Amino acid sequence: LLEELVERDLLLPTGVPGVYGRGAEFETALLAFDALVTRETQRDGAEVVRFPPVLPRRHLETSGYLSSFPHLAGSIFSFTGSEGEAVELGARAARHADWSDLQTATAVTLAPAACYPVYPWAAAAGQLPATGRVVDVCAYCFRHEPSEDPARMQSFRMRELVRIAAPDVVTDWHRSWVERGGEILGSVGLHTDVAPANDPFFGRTGKMLAANQRDQGLKLERVITIAGDRPTAIMSINYHQDHFGLDFGIRTADGEVAHTACFGFGLERVALALFATHGLDSSAWPPSVRERLRLDGG
Ligand code: ATP
Ligand code: ZN
Repeated sequence: LLEELVERDLLLPTGVPGVYGRGAEFETALLAFDALVTRETQRDGAEVVRFPPVLPRRHLETSGYLSSFPHLAGSIFSFTGSEGEAVELGARAARHADWSDLQTATAVTLAPAACYPVYPWAAAAGQLPATGRVVDVCAYCFRHEPSEDPARMQSFRMRELVRIAAPDVVTDWHRSWVERGGEILGSVGLHTDVAPANDPFFGRTGKMLAANQRDQGLKLERVITIAGDRPTAIMSINYHQDHFGLDFGIRTADGEVAHTACFGFGLERVALALFATHGLDSSAWPPSVRERLRLDGG
């Protein structure tokens, strides 16, 4: 599939596995699905906010990401040295030699998921309103997982809704979106299955965390075949329980620790699923799908 996608200029290779430019036809389909999500979630009254694809390092540390997923995190380093060191840096870079020891950590890392900036922001706003909050975010996310699978990118967009409220409200929301997400995908001809899932926790302790997450049904995915014969998750629903509420100190109107959940469409994966399912020429997609995505305008 990757070869065909590249041949048709849908994905533009950069030489690094999992890092691509997006051609116009690919981007048009992706943005059309993103707009469909906007239309479908209007009635949820979500607060729409957008954060840049970088995250304060402190927030990544507070969330525990570096203990659970040290292998996926990307941190931003920069140069703060002397003039002599700058000459050395430039010279090493010119011959593609290692210059990493000449840089130091900045205050930011790359965002691993679109929802991460929401929790510290919600905590800073003080106690939640009585009904909690629903927040709509979308951002490029980074994960260090180089792969030749076009559906496993290092840099990709997540369109997420985040629910922050009392536990019973969040569990109901979590459950309802398993179905609603499936209906949205089904409406553009993407027929998915629901599968229990776990986050890719690191190491031996991680295996236990993953098993626990799976057993409790905290993470569910909507999967479909894109490339190869193993289905790929194009949407994930995560119930974090009190994890972010405790880490960042988010309180409900009653003063309890807030629970949180999020669901996210992997926008590149949805676009890939559309091309894999309906064909690589989007002008020949079924009229009902083109209409639903408003690809002919309107
Ligand atoms: P996977 O199990 O495939 O590694 P994940 O469990 O790490 O995915 P989440 O953290 O739940 O995924 O991310 C939310 C959504 O973002 C996923 O449902 C998927 O559609 C998308 N996504 C995750 N990782 C990637 C990736 N490497 N490339 C493209 N999209 C991705
Ligand atoms: Zn999330």
